[in-house]
Amino acid sequence: MEYKLPDLPYEENALEPVISAQTVSFHYGKHTRGYIETLNRLVADTEFSDMPLERIISSADGAIYNNAAQAWNHVFYFEQFCKGGNGDIDGKLKTAVEKAFGSTIAFKDMFVAAGNSIFGSGWVWLASDKAGNLHIEKCGNAGNPVVKGLLPLLAFDVWEHAYYIDYRNRRAEHLNALWEIVDWRVINNRHDKVLNG
Ligand code: MN
Repeated sequence: MEYKLPDLPYEENALEPVISAQTVSFHYGKHTRGYIETLNRLVADTEFSDMPLERIISSADGAIYNNAAQAWNHVFYFEQFCKGGNGDIDGKLKTAVEKAFGSTIAFKDMFVAAGNSIFGSGWVWLASDKAGNLHIEKCGNAGNPVVKGLLPLLAFDVWEHAYYIDYRNRRAEHLNALWEIVDWRVINNRHDKVLNG
């Protein structure tokens, strides 16, 4: 089985001015495509060649883990945005966010602060445990909270390739701007799936 890069659910310029078409073109069209192509080469004729990505992430290490996790993380990342953003934290997700972090605003501030404090490349995640409690997880490099048994809901990429063209070294400014393009319908749906097991 060959892993394939899905088509983006929007045009390359749809996320402007928060993420430029040029960044989307490099970040999705080159970096994400590269992880998938490398993964296909690495897993050919191995025990991993027919596994769903989530199982590879939970069981592999080294280069296969890194490329599988980066492939999964980036598809997850790009599908959570839309032109101009949509809605806000709502319904059951809002109740869970307020329980864990006090308020929606406090959550967003903590999430950006966590992402900004990652040394070097990585990801900041909002994830749920099996009991429905929410956690902010800081992961280095290709890290994904699935390996800890958590269920990811939202991810911001803090690798420089995610923001250097548009924001240079201003990571916090980039992370704060991302709230303007989050499609909360996608995040609420992910949360509903977690609640429904
Ligand atoms: Mn990236």
